[in-house]
Amino acid sequence: MPSEEPGPDQLAWRSRTLPPVEDLGGGVWSIPVPIPDNPLGYTLVYALETARGPVLVDTGWDDPAGRTALADGLGRAGFALAEVHGILVTHHHPDHHGLSGHVREESGAWIAMHGVEAAVVRAIAGLPASRWAGRMARSMRDAGAPEEHLAALRSLGAGSGGRDGAGGVTESGGGTENGGRGGVRLADALPDRELVHGESAGVPGRAVRVLWTPGHTPGHVCLYLDEPGHPGRLLSGDHLLPTISPAVSLYPENPGDEPTDPLGDYLDSLERIAALAPQEILPAHQYRFTDAPARVRALLDHHADRLAELHSQLKH
Ligand SMILES: [Zn+2]
Ligand SMILES: [Zn+2]
Repeated sequence: MPSEEPGPDQLAWRSRTLPPVEDLGGGVWSIPVPIPDNPLGYTLVYALETARGPVLVDTGWDDPAGRTALADGLGRAGFALAEVHGILVTHHHPDHHGLSGHVREESGAWIAMHGVEAAVVRAIAGLPASRWAGRMARSMRDAGAPEEHLAALRSLGAGSGGRDGAGGVTESGGGTENGGRGGVRLADALPDRELVHGESAGVPGRAVRVLWTPGHTPGHVCLYLDEPGHPGRLLSGDHLLPTISPAVSLYPENPGDEPTDPLGDYLDSLERIAALAPQEILPAHQYRFTDAPARVRALLDHHADRLAELHSQLKH
């Protein structure tokens, strides 16, 4: 059981340094992979040991430092990159799915994600940057965004031939996951397998169940690891983080363009995690924590407050 004392992961977050590779027990390792020029600092990739090689939950941001950190971290856990057996992708953002294609090339691992997320990746992969930026600009204009914001977006699309899709998580204090890099990153590796809500994630010899938790992205999943000795561990991706409130935005890549309700999805997904009452949360950013229902309540309250503010503004 986790103690009350802050662990090395939490101390690292507080001091804004990269946490160590950690053996979390029961064949689970935490491997930090840096995100360049970004207040989030790093993604926590988890490696699940199996007889057929490690299965990764997310892979991290694709740049030279990330590739080195992942390979070295796996080495600390006793594995070579070439031994990776599979990759479970919580969602398509490049700080999670960025290195998946590279790992598959090096190891022959399969990549698995929810079918809805796979559709998003397919849509992104088939869309040139200029078209994507144009689509974003259109939906922002429809929502009443000022022209100077649209101009910045249009110039992004006209520029580099790609997009930085990391945008997504804002901390109560300020920083954003985009980090101002303006860099170009496509996380467009298509999956080999589909993850289905309520079913096994297909990790050989291990009890890992898929929980579809749409909201932060339409096909976001959490993975529930419930094993003797270490019951009730939830690998939460970006769905549930200890102090950061994940961004919930329209689903711009939504291939069908049908009306969606991301915030409604997100709040429902939160309630389902609270009802599950996992014993420990292993998030993709920041640090591990325990009281999931309390964290869910805080997020529900936060959104209720913001919705009430919005509602009162709309009445004027
Ligand atoms: Zn994300
Ligand atoms: Zn993230």
